[in-house]
Order: sequence, then C-alpha cells, then structure tokens
Amino acid sequence: MNLPEVRESLRAIQRAATAIAEEADRALSALENTDPANPSRWLCYPLHIETKRINSPFGVERATFTHEGIDFYAPLGTPVLASADGVVSRTYEGRFYGKCVVITHPHGGKTYTTYSAHLDRWSVAAGQRVRQGETIGASGNTGNSTGPHFHMTLVEVGNPKRLRGISLVGCIDPMPLIMNPP
Ligand SMILES: [Zn+2]
Repeated sequence: MNLPEVRESLRAIQRAATAIAEEADRALSALENTDPANPSRWLCYPLHIETKRINSPFGVERATFTHEGIDFYAPLGTPVLASADGVVSRTYEGRFYGKCVVITHPHGGKTYTTYSAHLDRWSVAAGQRVRQGETIGASGNTGNSTGPHFHMTLVEVGNPKRLRGISLVGCIDPMPLIMNPP
C-alpha cells in the first residue's frame, strides 16, 4: 500500500469506529429508557427538560373539540425527543399543529403514530429512522397555539374511535404509556 491508500484505510476504520460508538450510545439510551417494572410504559417523556409539568391533559372538553393529546410545559426551544423508536413519516407546517413531526412506531404487533406539534423547528426528515430519546426538533409556539408549549398526539392506527371535532381518528391518551411521568 502507498501512503494515500494507508490514509484512506485508516479513515475507513475511523468511520466504522464512530458508527459503532454511535450505535452503542443509542442502545445505552434505549436501555436507560426502559422501565422493567412497567413494560406497558413504552414511551419516554418527550422533552429534554428539568421541569416536568402537564399544562393540559388528554380528553379535556374545549369549546369546539375534545383535546386529542397532551400539552406539556415547554419553554421556547426545549429539545423535543422521539418518544419511541420509529420512522419519520413526514414533517409539515399546518394551520392547526403549526410545525409538526409525524413519526410511525411499530409496537407490540400494532402501529402507532405520534404528532409532535407547535414546534419552533424540526431536525429530522421524512424517511429517517429515529431512536427513542433522540432529538427531533425544538418546541415552539407555531400554529393554533396561545403560548409556548409542546403538544403530542398519539394515534393507534386502526382504532376507529373519533374524538369530537377532530379529524384524527384513533387518538388515545399517551399518559398511561409514558414511563417517567411527572
Ligand atoms: Zn394540545
């Protein structure tokens, strides 16, 4: 081997080592996010934040609709995390949810979808695989929102239940599934 070839093979080893280290990091964080005492709680708290507080729970009746998700306390720019392993279905900006990341999560033979809404920005792209606890964006105040907070909707795909006034079908309460609630 000449010098450029040696350099290139060393770089290849370096890249491989980095990839292994990143994979180990993800595996470790998934382990930390698993609560063996509560295997039914398979979602992690969706924010990287000291102060865990719920501003508005699931199912609250509002003027024209039933609250189809949870509003979490989140100052502007709080890191928003993937609450479970999954694949980003899409990112979009809508009138209601503002900047929103939609992730599909297979779990226990079912498929679930999370909507992370009112974001200031997202840091993932459609088709991207995400791990539980991975940062997907930052919380904001976009769309139909009266102040900075983070809204998450959890949909059980195939669940026909429709909440009053909400076009999303199959919304369920994420709270009993969150492993480290406030
Ligand atoms: Zn909400």
